[in-house]
Amino acid sequence: MSIDIERFLAILGKEVKNYQVPVVDLIAVQTKDPFKILVATILSARTKDEVTAKSSERLFEKAGTVEKLAKLDETTLQKIIYPVGFYKNKARYLAALPGKMAADFDSKVPSSMEDLLSLPGVGRKTANLVLAQAFGIPAICVDTHVHRIMNIWGYVDTKTPEQTEMALRKKLPQHYWITVNSLLVAFGQGTCRPVGPHCERCVLASGCPQIGVTPRKRKSKKKAKDVQRLISWNVNGLRAVFKKGFIDIVKDMDPDVLGLQEIKAMEEQLPESLQKLKGYHSYFYSAERKGYSGVATYSRHKPENVIRGIGDPRFDDEGRVLTLEFPSYYFLNCYFPNSKHDLSRLGFKHDFNVLLQKFAEDLAMKKSVIICGDFNVAHKEIDLANPRQNRKNAGFTPEECAWMDSFTDAGWIDSFRMKNKEADQYSWWSYRSRARERNIGWRIDYHCVDKNSRKKIVDADIYQHIQGSDHCPVVLDFLG
Ligand code: SF4
Repeated sequence: MSIDIERFLAILGKEVKNYQVPVVDLIAVQTKDPFKILVATILSARTKDEVTAKSSERLFEKAGTVEKLAKLDETTLQKIIYPVGFYKNKARYLAALPGKMAADFDSKVPSSMEDLLSLPGVGRKTANLVLAQAFGIPAICVDTHVHRIMNIWGYVDTKTPEQTEMALRKKLPQHYWITVNSLLVAFGQGTCRPVGPHCERCVLASGCPQIGVTPRKRKSKKKAKDVQRLISWNVNGLRAVFKKGFIDIVKDMDPDVLGLQEIKAMEEQLPESLQKLKGYHSYFYSAERKGYSGVATYSRHKPENVIRGIGDPRFDDEGRVLTLEFPSYYFLNCYFPNSKHDLSRLGFKHDFNVLLQKFAEDLAMKKSVIICGDFNVAHKEIDLANPRQNRKNAGFTPEECAWMDSFTDAGWIDSFRMKNKEADQYSWWSYRSRARERNIGWRIDYHCVDKNSRKKIVDADIYQHIQGSDHCPVVLDFLG
């Protein structure tokens, strides 16, 4: 199967407009300065864009010109550019750069491949990027994303980035040479990721041959007879998600028990088909305040008992916890309070957490307990895309993370992390800045299981492909 490269790149041209711009492109657009583009490109090798951006900024504050760079020694440079990858080597190259440029190029960045390759720390990839970005000279910068994606598409069949560059020079229309790197770096970081590419939401999925690709894991509908599929989903308004195909989504997910949070409705405000979801027993626990909070649970089997609330009107008036008791386990559907933008509800949230934990621990003395829901906290740095920027923000404050630490230290098991250690696994994305497309998200929805039921955790997953809310469903297969 051969792809239509013009069509693919045209589609991507529109698609990546909303993606994060690769850092070197950004610096090129902002500065139009060959020296800064060269230095940022050297820093960017084997380094995340966020890290390159910050290190470049620090360096340019002190050395925005080759003359100023000449005044910094290698040790100082190491300190400034840390933690970029291979920072010691890069500091050595940067320390040697001004001397070489002064001796051979009158302290100017040269504009030919041969001259660029003579500079310390500059290989073909860097040289091509500098030629394209700094001088607008047609050059194809082949980094890992360009090499990988061109092979996935079957447009080239090569083993190394150098071979890819040579193959592309022969067949890629020249008007794409300068832009192909930016397009595929942005696309490779946002959708066609090296590990677990998001084929399920890719604009090229219908025409892509996916050579050598293992698409992101999708849950098989099949499960063993004695396994219960438990799903938790903050729907951010049950009536709203109903209009977006909720009934079909539930059919497709096929849960045994489905816990919904933030239903934002009284039972009587819901359409009949939601009040009595076909094939399920339906239970609601709404907030007293209309259009706010509230949880609902649908269960294929009739539970033995239903408990509404946790015995404190401060929380129960907001419809936050609905418990279904089954023969071998309790299913707690919880909507944890949000500590609020100004953190004014941090204390309220902490009180809820403590009481909820006590409530669950009392139940766990009798049988297994699963606490599912929107916990409104990302536990560790791996659980959100931008941990450093959010350290003081609601959902990732030291106080909230400390409670989550104490909760797991008490033996509660985060079932997803027990089964999956990968980064970039999120369950909530802000509606702003197209965060979902760029996967700038948080994992704040969980199924936590009591310490004695570890062996009953069969599998855990996040259904990132399911739309309809700013959260996606999270899944636990549990031996019920
Ligand atoms: S369909 Fe999958 S492999 Fe193909 S380009 Fe899209 S994300 Fe990459």
